[in-house]
Amino acid sequence: MKMPRQNLRTPGPTPVPDDIVEAMSNPMINHRGPEFRDMISRVTDQLKQVFMTQNDLFILTASGTGALEASIVNTLSPGDKVVAATAGSFGDRFIDLARAYGADVKVLEFEWGAAVDPDAIRRALRDDPSVKAVMVTHNETSTGITHPLAEMAAVVKGEFGKLLLVDAVSSLGCIPLAVDGWDCDMVGTASQKGFMIPPGLAFISVSEAAWEAQQTASMPRFYFDLASAKSYLERGQTPFTPAVAAMYGLSQALDNILDEGLENVYERHASIAQYTRESMKNLGLELLAEDETYASNTVTAIKMPAGVDHGKLMGLMRSDENVVLAAGQGKLATDIFRIGHLGYVVQEDIEEVVEALKTVLPKVGFSAS
Ligand SMILES: *Cc1c(COP(=O)(O)O)cnc(C)c1O
Repeated sequence: MKMPRQNLRTPGPTPVPDDIVEAMSNPMINHRGPEFRDMISRVTDQLKQVFMTQNDLFILTASGTGALEASIVNTLSPGDKVVAATAGSFGDRFIDLARAYGADVKVLEFEWGAAVDPDAIRRALRDDPSVKAVMVTHNETSTGITHPLAEMAAVVKGEFGKLLLVDAVSSLGCIPLAVDGWDCDMVGTASQKGFMIPPGLAFISVSEAAWEAQQTASMPRFYFDLASAKSYLERGQTPFTPAVAAMYGLSQALDNILDEGLENVYERHASIAQYTRESMKNLGLELLAEDETYASNTVTAIKMPAGVDHGKLMGLMRSDENVVLAAGQGKLATDIFRIGHLGYVVQEDIEEVVEALKTVLPKVGFSAS
């Protein structure tokens, strides 16, 4: 089977560059042998540079949700009080996950398309000193909003000293996130977003405070038991069979990211995002972001113009123009469409999207006023 190339503009999975595809076709190795040991220790060190952390860091064979699950089950006990801020479907999913394991979650809900207000977190923590942890989403992929994580961390860690669990699946490696600088306890992300590798790996960093919480956390855990991951990593292994091919890809991706330079990677994402937003407005379209200062540098959400059929626009873009856009999620499913611009992306990829929209929008009954 051979898939034709598309301009894949979903906010994960992203396109995968040729050198990573090639790296992934290396011969298989024994994951209990010296070659794997060398690879995992080198790659873990490189990942720590991208996370800007000296904390422990683990590579899990899972999608991003696996890292988020690890952050919950390794720090909390059933009945523990947790504050969670949400303004989209990934924020909501993090809450569902914590509740599935018995956490007592107080939800701070914000409008989809708006940013979380750190002051609401401050008030919630002031109201209830027994709260153990705060869960936040750094970049809400479903709405294209980057929440003010540094400010939220200053409240959660600086003012209250609570555990801070961060979903950074669609931000890490694309948008600055100083894990140590902002004192984030658990930060999870995944291979198919900013790292431009196929799906299959998740990464999570663990602070000293998180390890302390781990000692008494009684939520059930087995596959995602990080104490076990730690003891295996000391021997250059993982507890279970890792996705070795994806690890080859990761190794190449990290070489590429660190060669380009983290600052340059952030700058590339910022300038392509800016270009995307300006181009959409020039086409006469409206962004979902209420305040553009919070508009994401990894994904742009655009309001569906009145009278335009969602399925028709997305379908024609794919069938006639070879551009794959992302639909909305949850309650915004057909009210917006999204353009992913993270990981392996250059401005020409978005220029293609703009040209395609110029062709397709009139066919679906949209004319800029
Ligand atoms: C993609 C994504 C996830 C979930 O990732 P999976 O890899 O599908 O488990 C979680 N949170 C955010 C913000 C995401 O963008």
